[in-house]
Amino acid sequence: MSVALRILDDGAWLSVNDQRRVSVSELWRVNAPGFCECELVDFLAEGFTEVTAADNEVAIETYGQCIRCGVSGVPGHLPVGAIIQGRYRDYDRENVVLSPVGRADQP
Ligand SMILES: [Zn+2]
Repeated sequence: MSVALRILDDGAWLSVNDQRRVSVSELWRVNAPGFCECELVDFLAEGFTEVTAADNEVAIETYGQCIRCGVSGVPGHLPVGAIIQGRYRDYDRENVVLSPVGRADQP
């Protein structure tokens, strides 16, 4: 079963099977040591630029900023959910630490 992943509204939403599932302005804790000097990035998502799915994990390339120190940029593809038996399941994004994953189109 295939799942349709799409970014809508100039990067404001991730749509899964034509349902809006992930929006910008969520606050995520991200483990991305190269992004800024903070131990964990308090990352405010501001825009989605690309969505990938690898090994049933959905990841979004996300532009945003660390609200602790103000550095902004793209920390990588951030995993936001998983495809389980053909259905999309959100991760508990506000309560876990997200680690950027590799690009799906690169080994
Ligand atoms: Zn920071």
